[in-house]
Parts: sequence; C-alpha cells; structure tokens
Amino acid sequence: MMDNIEELKSLLSSPQNITIIAHRNPDGDALGSALGLSAYLKQQGHLLKVVMPSEHPKVFNYMVGIDDMIIFDLKHDEAREALRSASLIFCLDFNGLDRVDKLGPVIADSEAKKVLIDHHLDPEPFADFVLSDTSASSTAELVYEFIVALGGAQDINIPIGEALFTGLITDTGSFKYNTRSQTYRVAAALKDRGVDDYYLNDKIFNSMKEKHLRILGHCLANRMKIIPEYGAAYIYLNRKDYIDFDIQRGDTEGIVNYLLKMDNIEMAGFISEQPTIVKLSLRSKGDISVQEICRTHFNGGGHKNASGGGVYKPLGWVLKKLEEVIPEHLTKREIIG
Ligand code: 5GP
Ligand code: MN
Repeated sequence: MMDNIEELKSLLSSPQNITIIAHRNPDGDALGSALGLSAYLKQQGHLLKVVMPSEHPKVFNYMVGIDDMIIFDLKHDEAREALRSASLIFCLDFNGLDRVDKLGPVIADSEAKKVLIDHHLDPEPFADFVLSDTSASSTAELVYEFIVALGGAQDINIPIGEALFTGLITDTGSFKYNTRSQTYRVAAALKDRGVDDYYLNDKIFNSMKEKHLRILGHCLANRMKIIPEYGAAYIYLNRKDYIDFDIQRGDTEGIVNYLLKMDNIEMAGFISEQPTIVKLSLRSKGDISVQEICRTHFNGGGHKNASGGGVYKPLGWVLKKLEEVIPEHLTKREIIG
C-alpha cells in the first residue's frame, strides 16, 4: 500500500474537488478503475469528475457514470478545466504523463495533490501519493485494495463492484493471464458484494457485430504474417482496410490475441495504419519482453507481456523495422519439417 496513506486519508476526511483521469484509448481497466473509484468517492461526499483523453469502446456503456465522463478529444476546455480546478487528481492505469497527451502538462502544472494508482512498469515520479504495483493484475485490483485501506470495503455496492470487476476481467482476459492469488481474492470479495460476473462476461465478450467478425476474418485470412523461425506473428491493417471495413476505434480490440492461440507462437503483433500514426500492439508469452521492444524501438511501453507504441512513419517502414528487431529480442529455433 501507499507509504503516506494516512496523509491522504486525512485529506479525504473533508470534501474534495476530485478529478480522475486514465490513459488515452481507455480499456476496460482504465474505465472500470476510474468509474469504480469515482462512484465510491462520490458516495463518500466528494465532488467528482472523470476525464478521459479519448473516446471509449461502446461495449463498456453499462458502467456507472460512463455518460458523465469528460472526453478531452470532444471537449478540450472542459477537460482542462476539470483538471485545473481540482484539489486532488487521481491518475489511474498509466505510468507517465505522455499517456494522456496534451493533458499531461495540465496535470504537471496543476496545484492539486496527485495520486497515482497503477500497475505498469517504470512509473514516472510525478505524483504525491503512489500506489504502484506491477504484480497486480489490473489497476482495478489496486483500486479495490485502496478502497479497503480507506475503510470502505462495506461501501462497495453493485455498480462500484461491476466497474472494478470489469477491470479484472479485461486485464486478465477473463482470468487467463496476469493473475496472482490476490486477484481471485478481490474477485471473490466483489462477488460477495453482489457482482454478477456471468452477466459482465456476456456483456463484454458476446457483443460483437457482424462487422467485427468480418474484420477478424479479413485479418486472419489476408493480413497475417508468420515468422516461424522466431515464433512470431503479426497482423497489419492499412488505411484502405480501415475504409473498406469501416473500422472505428475499438473495432480491432483483442484481434492480436488470436495469434497466440497458435502453439508455436510466443510473440504477436497488431499494427494499424491510422491517419497520422502507425500504432503497434504487441503481446508475448513467458520471458519475452514486448515492453522492451516497444520502449526501445516504437516510442511505447506497457507491461512485459502486453505493450504498445506508435510511430510517425509509413506502415511499410514499421513492418520492416519490426521484422528487423525480432531477431534481436527473440531466440532463433530449429524448424522441423
Ligand atoms: P494495447 O496494445 O492494448 O494498446 O496496450 C497494451 C499495453 O501497452 C497497455 O498497458 C497500454 O497502457 C500500453 N501502451 C499502449 N500503447 C502505448 C504507448 O503508445 N505508449 C506506452 N508507454 N504504453 C502504451
Ligand atoms: Mn490496466
């Protein structure tokens, strides 16, 4: 837990003007940890605002307070103002101010006390209160622990629990990776508070539209490259694919994971050519650190087995670079017949 939690507790003993922010392209954990914590702190009598740098996947619309979020890409001034006027800023699910784009400097310049709750590697030292644990499954798991440390275990209601449980589900792929025994304790505790995990899994994973299956089919049939001698594979989408399949933000979520279903693949990439930037999502198994690859070559970072990055270069350049760096980070193997 945070070293100076008593100081934060005493701050929270009187009503505060709190703004919570999570990372760009918020995923289930960014949204769930932010909305769960927001609902809890609101219930405790604080004034709450939740800011996201960019829009969120619609699949998470069932979460408490999601419609009240201030999205920087849509409302620049309101988002800036929410951070400037705060007495306390919670930064959730990101480790450095470059993960919130133009809001980074606004946070850095703010007079507010800053709290960081996060599970990414190498957190930057910008916060006054830090709860950083890279062994946690998700930021939601840490937010649960934080609420318990504040004495709020019994105040967790179903909406708060659903938001936090969403973070657990999405950052662990339904408890398939990133888990530790504490993850299951937190899941059990949230279930005891009334969370229906069957309902949540159905909402999150069985909400695809025809379009999504067609995009997935296109990726697997026409855009998949396998590099068997290094146990690596990637999928790429070009700008024309985005137009032809009407691909919007979030439509390609999770596609990278299909590559790891092959028994001889230990590193997987999803590379997308977006209007100005080429984004990479890398995943790996075991000791292969895609965080190192993203950090060293693609202006990114994240976790050892799940990282991302972005480059302002042509798609072809990025794919060539990826193929060049794979031999530097992965071990060559014998290919038998
Ligand atoms: P995804 O591949 O799903 O976008 O992201 C996987 C992980 O990498 C997430 O934990 C995310 O926070 C991190 N990540 C994704 N893109 C970037 C990036 O551009 N920079 C950094 N530092 N981390 C990223
Ligand atoms: Mn997370």
